[in-house]
Amino acid sequence: MFKKILIANRGEIALRIIRACREMGIQSVAVFSEADADSMHVQLADEAYCVGPARSIDSYLKIDQIIAAAEVADVDAIHPGYGFLAENSHFNEVCRSSGFEFIGPSPDAMEKLGDKNTARAMAIASDVPVVPGSDGLIEDDKQAIEIARGIGYPVLIKATAGGGGKGMRVAETEDMLVSALNQARTEAQAAFGNGGVYLERYVGNPRHIEVQVIADKHGNIVHLYERDCSVQRRHQKLIEEAPSPNLPEAQRKEICDAAVRMIRGADYSNAGTVEFIVDEKDDFFFIEVNARIQVEHPVSEMITGVDLIKAQISVAANEPLSMTQDDVQCSGHAIECRINAENPERNFQPNPGRITKLYTPGGLGVRFDSHVYGGYNVPPHYDSMIGKLIVYMPTREQAIATMRRALYELKVEGIATTAKFHDQVLQHPEFVEGKHNTKFVEREFMD
Ligand code: ADP
Repeated sequence: MFKKILIANRGEIALRIIRACREMGIQSVAVFSEADADSMHVQLADEAYCVGPARSIDSYLKIDQIIAAAEVADVDAIHPGYGFLAENSHFNEVCRSSGFEFIGPSPDAMEKLGDKNTARAMAIASDVPVVPGSDGLIEDDKQAIEIARGIGYPVLIKATAGGGGKGMRVAETEDMLVSALNQARTEAQAAFGNGGVYLERYVGNPRHIEVQVIADKHGNIVHLYERDCSVQRRHQKLIEEAPSPNLPEAQRKEICDAAVRMIRGADYSNAGTVEFIVDEKDDFFFIEVNARIQVEHPVSEMITGVDLIKAQISVAANEPLSMTQDDVQCSGHAIECRINAENPERNFQPNPGRITKLYTPGGLGVRFDSHVYGGYNVPPHYDSMIGKLIVYMPTREQAIATMRRALYELKVEGIATTAKFHDQVLQHPEFVEGKHNTKFVEREFMD
C-alpha cells in the first residue's frame, strides 16, 4: 500500500481525500495557491506546498509545480480529485512517467472516454444504448442536414471535446441547423481547441441518471447503483440523490448492467461514472463517462456503505476489489444539496467573501463535507461550492424531512448561499413526488 499521497486539488474534495488517507494510515500532502494559504486542507494535511498564485492556471493547473511538490515530498501516488487536472490525460501520463501512481484510470482509457464521439462509439460496441444520432463527427453542413432529417427535429449539436454544457446547441428546425452548428463549432474551438461536433436527437424532458462504478486492475467491476441528478440549472447539478425515485426495478437493473458493460469495454480501472438520460418511457441512453470521482459520490457511499475514496486508493495500489457485486447492497435513501456561495435572488451570481459566522448542522443521518469555517474568506478565483450537505435516512420521505431540518440549522453569515433555494425545491410537489426532470428548476424557479 502507498505510504504517502499528494492531493492535486483544494476545497472539500481535498479534505475528503485527506480524511481517507488518515484512516488508512497514509501520509497526505496538500498543494495550495497563495489564495488558499489559510485553507482547511492545508491545515489538515501532514505536509503542504504552495504551487503558485491565486489563479488556477498559475497553480492548481500547473503540472510542473505539482510534480515538483510530489518530488520534494517524495510521495508514491497523486490523487487528482475532480475538476482541475482530474481528466487531463497528459497530466495522468506525466504523473506515471515521473514515477507517481495516478489514482484514476489509465491515460489511454481517460483519453478515449474524454472524447465524447469516441465514447459514444465505444458504448455502441459494448451494446449500451445511445441517443439516436450521427455515426461520427459532422463533416459538412450538407451531411448534417441529411442526418438531422433522419433523426428528426429537434436535434442537439454536441462538441466531442465538450464539458460543462459548452459547445452544445439545440436546433429546433432545419432553418436553425446551420447557424447552430457554426455556433457550437466556434464555442467548442474556443473552449477546448477542438471544434469537432456530432448530432443527437434532443430528448424532451429527460431525467439525468448516472451509475457509479468501481473497477480494479484485475478485471473485477462492481456498480454502486444509480444516482438521480435531475435537479439542474444550466446543466449544472444542484441536488443529487440515490437511489433514483420512480425508476422501475427492471430498468434499474438494466441501466446498472449497461454501465458495467461500458466500463469493461473501455478496459477501465478505478472509480468512474456512466451518465445516461432517461426519457418519459423510462428508456435510457448513454451520454458520457466521467473518468474521475464526482462531487456527488457521497450519496452512493451512504446507500452502500462503501468508502469510494478508500476503494480508489486501494485499486490504484493494485489491490483487488474487497467486494463482489452481491456484497454491494443498497439500502435507505440519501440526498445531497450543493451549498454554493451564490445569490439565488440575483440569478445565482457568485458571492465570495468572508464568512463572519458559521453553524453547521448535525444530528442523526447528517453529513456536511466542507472546507469552510467561521472567519474563512471564500476566494473569488475558484468554483463557488462551499460545502455539500448530505443526509441519509431509511426512506426518501424521511430524507427530505431531515434535509429540510439540516438546511434550517445551517447558518452562514457574511455571504449569500443557495441553502434557502434548496429548501424551496425540497417542498415542491413535483420533487416530493420524484416526478421532476432536468427542466424542472428552469420551469418552476427561474422567472
Ligand atoms: P457536459 O459534459 O457538457 O456536461 P453532457 O453530455 O454530460 O454534457 O450533458 C449535460 C446535460 O445536457 C445532461 O444532463 C442533460 O440534461 C442534457 N443533455 C445531454 N444530451 C442530451 C440529449 N440528447 N437530449 C436532451 N438533453 C440532453
